[in-house]
Amino acid sequence: MAYQHIIDSERCKGCGLCVDVCPKNVLELSDHVSARGYYPSFQARPEDCIYCTLCCIMCPDVAITIKEIAEETAA
Ligand code: SF4
Ligand code: SF4
Repeated sequence: MAYQHIIDSERCKGCGLCVDVCPKNVLELSDHVSARGYYPSFQARPEDCIYCTLCCIMCPDVAITIKEIAEETAA
């Protein structure tokens, strides 16, 4: 099963907890301010994500979700 890591930048308050907890150093805070006036986190190195869900569990604003996505299957 493949997974998709999604950060809702409008929920994110830029606290940086997810950046600190990520064991793979995937996340960083953006240089761009959100509509609510925060610097949201984003996946700077998505190829390193192991979908461990630590960032989802850590986020106090429930801004991060990991979804299962159907893998491409050879016909
Ligand atoms: S799921 Fe794990 S590896 Fe991926 S960004 Fe979150 S904490 Fe880092
Ligand atoms: S823990 Fe949540 S609110 Fe804090 S920076 Fe990460 S996504 Fe944003």
